[in-house]
Amino acid sequence: MHKIINNLVLIEKNLKEKLNNNNIPIIIAVSKTFPMSEILPLINHGHEHFGENKVQELVGKQEVLPTDIEWHFIGHLQSNKVKYIAPFVSMIHAVDSIKLLKEINKQAKKNDRTISCLLQFHIADEQSKFGLDLEEAQNILSSNEFVELQNISIVGVMGMATFTDDQEQVRDEFKTLENYFNVVKSHFFKYNHAFEHLSMGMSGDYKIAIEEGSTMIRVGSSIFGAR
Ligand SMILES: *Cc1c(COP(=O)(O)O)cnc(C)c1O
Repeated sequence: MHKIINNLVLIEKNLKEKLNNNNIPIIIAVSKTFPMSEILPLINHGHEHFGENKVQELVGKQEVLPTDIEWHFIGHLQSNKVKYIAPFVSMIHAVDSIKLLKEINKQAKKNDRTISCLLQFHIADEQSKFGLDLEEAQNILSSNEFVELQNISIVGVMGMATFTDDQEQVRDEFKTLENYFNVVKSHFFKYNHAFEHLSMGMSGDYKIAIEEGSTMIRVGSSIFGAR
């Protein structure tokens, strides 16, 4: 078997064992920097969910790869680039402003579709520029501007833990994100079943993330190898 497929199959097997076959998260194969030749074997194996973090790279791959792939945009997205991915993207993971949401809504409408989005929360102690705190998220969700957006669907939250060997810190950060998910769910999406996703966990920390309730893990190097 192809090494990349083998890596994915092993991760799937691990997840099933650890979770007793219940609530297995979606595995997003993060293919950034890897060429088509490395992605195609996974597609032919039947894998559907792929993640990219650069608009140009994603568009280039989407144009030549099969059209039934579910593409997840997982990086920071600039408003002026939304139009390039709006025709096809399945989910945008790192939404952190009303400005970006409005642009996604506008481009989704132009394409006569609804785009699923996750609100990105800042949970790491690193000085990352990106991600909301709870108050900012609540301000967005309770604004009049937000209520008018008909072509986006907020389907959950996303976050990145600190890059550290301290597993308890990582676990605490994932717990914080789960708490944000629950607060936002109960205040704004209590009866909305679409709001269901907790996108957390990467190659280095997905084992902790699944114990804390992750529904989507974004795994690159553990599948494709080092970048
Ligand atoms: C690159 C990236 C990943 C995957 O990282 P790995 O450590 O290779 O698994 C996950 N999420 C985001 C937002 C990324 O940019």
